[in-house]
Amino acid sequence: MKPFFIKNLTLEQLEAWVTALGERPFRARQLYRHLYARNVSSWSQCTDLSRSFCARLESDASLHALALSRVDEARDGTRKYLFRLHDGNFIESVLIPDPPRCTLCVSSQAGCALGCKFCLTGSMGFKRNLETAEIVDQICHALRDPKLGPEINSLVFMGMGEPLANYDEVLRALTIITDPNGLMFSHRRVTLSTVGLVPQMRRLGTETAVNLAISIHAPNDAIRDQLMPVNRTYPLAELMRACREYPLQARKRITFEYILLHGVNDSPAQAKELVRLLGGVRAKINLIAFNPHPGSIYRTPPEEKILGFQDVLRKANLTAIIRKSRGSEISAACGQLAAKAVNSEE
Ligand code: SF4
Repeated sequence: MKPFFIKNLTLEQLEAWVTALGERPFRARQLYRHLYARNVSSWSQCTDLSRSFCARLESDASLHALALSRVDEARDGTRKYLFRLHDGNFIESVLIPDPPRCTLCVSSQAGCALGCKFCLTGSMGFKRNLETAEIVDQICHALRDPKLGPEINSLVFMGMGEPLANYDEVLRALTIITDPNGLMFSHRRVTLSTVGLVPQMRRLGTETAVNLAISIHAPNDAIRDQLMPVNRTYPLAELMRACREYPLQARKRITFEYILLHGVNDSPAQAKELVRLLGGVRAKINLIAFNPHPGSIYRTPPEEKILGFQDVLRKANLTAIIRKSRGSEISAACGQLAAKAVNSEE
């Protein structure tokens, strides 16, 4: 039988659950504090709860939604966590130290259905959406890592999967993550990256204040259609209209992720096209040199091409930063996530 993951519940839902068990509602706040502010790893650490309530939790509720299967560390300090889900699927999270930032990149789905041509996750196919608890627990596990856990100060949804294709679970996870009584991350330190599912993007802008990143990767529809099948559903004109209308808070910008693929999207003319495309949007651009993976048909551009592309953007007064790929020897750049993850938020 599928376990009942207590971290699937927001505080409000936890109150209803606790009350239904015959406990007083304040127990829910106590429990919530144990789950997130104290980030306990066993029910026995909740010493201020009654013995009978603890026994009920032990028997009815699962504190952990993930089992840590292994941790790999790269020479640059990047750490990759492999988690096993209750149904035998696996997901990854990547922790990227880049002082003063220490960023955890989380997954929102096991696999991905969107099939972007440059992405290793995309080539693996889709297994299933993650539940709220499976998203939140990636963070709880990483925060308990004695090596870097206490230093984590930003989160990015750029791991396996398209977060907006799992909207409800991701939104509930964001509620817990940014709740001052929950995991206590400021919305300024949380970034959600999407390929551009326009209807969900519009909803996100009205329901959260977290930072938005768009995986753009192409300056026109012809190239984007080839690289990202989602572009046939939401072509660039529609996506850019949604970006222009996105309710950005003061001093925030939308980050555009652009993976440079040799001979595909890396010419100066394409950089100029990108400048025109981003007109009217408060934007910054992260340029990421493609990091080849086994079976990939794309290559990394030479350095002068990357610098030339950046130069065109800068001359047009756009903020364009070249991101280094991190943790490549531990395959932390699945879907290029490790490079995208660093400093994507304001
Ligand atoms: S880049 Fe993102 S949306 Fe595209 S296939 Fe990979 S994980 Fe899915």
